[in-house]
Order: sequence, then C-alpha cells, then structure tokens
Amino acid sequence: MPDLLAPYAAYPEKSRGRLIFEEKPQGRTEFQRDRDRIIHSSAFRRLEYKTQVFVNHEGDLFRTRLTHSIEVAQIGRSIARNLALNEDLVEAISLAHDLGHTPFGHAGQDALNECMKSHGGFEHNLQSLRVVDVLEERYGAFDGLNLSFETREGILKHCSTRNAARLGEIGERFLQKKQPGLEAQLANLADEIAYNNHDVDDGLRSGLITLEELSSVAIFSDHVKTVRKIFPGISGRRLIHETVRRMINSQVIDLTIQSTRNIEAEKPENIDAVRESSPLIAFSPEMREAQLELKQFLRTRLYQHYRVTRMSAKARRIVSDLFQAFTSDIRLLPAQFQEKAEGEGDIMRVIADYIAGMTDRYAIREHRRLFAVEEIPL
Ligand code: MG
Repeated sequence: MPDLLAPYAAYPEKSRGRLIFEEKPQGRTEFQRDRDRIIHSSAFRRLEYKTQVFVNHEGDLFRTRLTHSIEVAQIGRSIARNLALNEDLVEAISLAHDLGHTPFGHAGQDALNECMKSHGGFEHNLQSLRVVDVLEERYGAFDGLNLSFETREGILKHCSTRNAARLGEIGERFLQKKQPGLEAQLANLADEIAYNNHDVDDGLRSGLITLEELSSVAIFSDHVKTVRKIFPGISGRRLIHETVRRMINSQVIDLTIQSTRNIEAEKPENIDAVRESSPLIAFSPEMREAQLELKQFLRTRLYQHYRVTRMSAKARRIVSDLFQAFTSDIRLLPAQFQEKAEGEGDIMRVIADYIAGMTDRYAIREHRRLFAVEEIPL
C-alpha cells in the first residue's frame, strides 16, 4: 500500500486556492478542512432526509442521499489509496457531490428544471456548487464554505457551455474540453459504483424487482452463482448482500487495474498534465459493458416501475405546485427568503434555492401547509 502521494495526485500545498484567501489551516490539510466544512454544513445534514429512488417515508432501510454519499466516499477512498491519490480530496468531493439535489431525487430535479426553464434552468450539479460557493451561511468572512479549487472542480461534474462561460475559472475546463484531477474523476465513478449496487439492494428489498429477474443480468448472475457455490442453501438477505458486496468489489478492483494501466501508459507528471490528458480513471471495456447491462435493467425494471412512476409523478406535482404558489405570491415564502428575493432581485432563483434545499418530508409538509383544506398547524 503506497504511503506517499503519486506525483499526479492533488497536493494540498499546491492547491489553486480558495475564492477568498485564508491562512493555511493548522493540524490538517486544505482538503481535510474542505471535508470538515462540508460535514458541518446544514446542506449535508439535510441529505439524511433526501432520497435517491425511494421517498424517505417509504422505509427506514432504503438509501438516502446521506448514506449514498458516505458509500461513495468509502468506495472512492479505497480506490484512492490503491492509486496513491489524495484520499481527503476524494472524500470531500464524494461527501459534497449531491448537496444540491432537490427533494425526491430526479423527479424533483426535472420538475424544478421545468419550472425554471425560462429563468436559467435548474441543474443539481450546478446547485451543489452554488450551495458550497454561495448558499451556506456559516462564516463571518464569506458566503458559502469557501472550498479549495480542487474540491469545487470535483463537485462540478458536468456543466453546459452556457453555464461554464459565466462561472469563471471553475467553468474553464468545460469550454476547453479538459479533464479535472484524478480525484474528481474517481469520485465520479465511485458514485456510479455506489448507486448501481445499492439500487440493486434497495430494489430487491422493496420487492419491485426479484432475484429471478436480476438473474438475467450477467454481473449479478455470475456472482450469485459463486455465492451459492460457497454457501449452499444460502437465501434471503444474506444471499443478496453476499452477491452485492462481490459486485462492488469486482468493480473496485477493475477500476483500480484499468486506471493503473491508463496512468502507466500516459505517465502524467503532475495534476496539470492529468487535466490535459484524456480521462484516466476508467473501467475496463468488459466491465463497462456489464455495467451498461445492469443500468439498462435498473432503468426499465426499477426506475420506470409503475410504483416508482406514481411516486415520481406525485413528487413532480409537489415541486411544481410549490413553485407556482411562491411565484404567484412571494409573501408565501418564509421571511428570510422574502428578504433575499427582495434584496437579490432574482426572485425565481431564490424560490428555486428554497425548494431545492427542502428535504422530502419538508416539501410534503410545506405542500400540505399551502394546499391542504383541512386544518394544518402552520
Ligand atoms: Mg450521487
């Protein structure tokens, strides 16, 4: 296990710095400080009550955005250590990558984007950056968390050229078609490993997909066979977990081996050379293929399952009802957001920020407070 960072890793002392200058932290590195700020932010705590596929009240055992982000950090850190990359930076990016998500997962984001169509749109990735750059109100000297460039670079996974053009330094790579550092590339793929696998697990737990159905997917059936061979008679949760953990492990190993190969072929001297090169953190073509099959399965059998679709439809309705209510009369907004709307001028963006910041259950309650006819405590 390498103790030292590889030359192409992100070095905190060579960071491109923060938007507002700060003295070096004591007793920790710049990236550790970023991670610590993220964990202490209120947007991070809200992840506990925001969902990916299942809505928070559907069950206590399903992943939330918080447990998802922790799983991404775990997977990312393991691989970072194997590749001698900066674990702290991968952890910071992983924990922050979903901070900008609306309530109700993609259904919520689609609805809010639709509402904001003629006001610059809404994109969760951009919103994550907005949370750490602007929206968190915790420090005396600046808005947001004032994170390092490298962490912000990793948070902004994708971005339209239109948005990139107004983002300054952090948007440049999208205009110049360059890559982010390896830690950012890694956090992105750790995200994929995490959600593909936990959606299998949550999907089975919910009963919306079955073991039999999943056996049509090669990566799943291969590992199920192995598990059954090692543990004859195994069934239920143990069978599922023994299978899923092997799936995760095989993807972690594959990503490590393929990325090592890519890095050895490219030999980047430092993080700037990484940024100029093609993406180096990658799965093997075979693993890519296997993942695509799994993704396709999850899309049609789980994400488009009629029970998920029903919940998504409800979620979209809640988000667009809230948006319409607030835009029709900003006096319906809580006082602090009214003040912001009046101060900032961009009323629509303030409303989008307010809705995006809501947890699933808060959005449901707010919807009831505004629309329910029966008596609801305000
Ligand atoms: Mg994610």
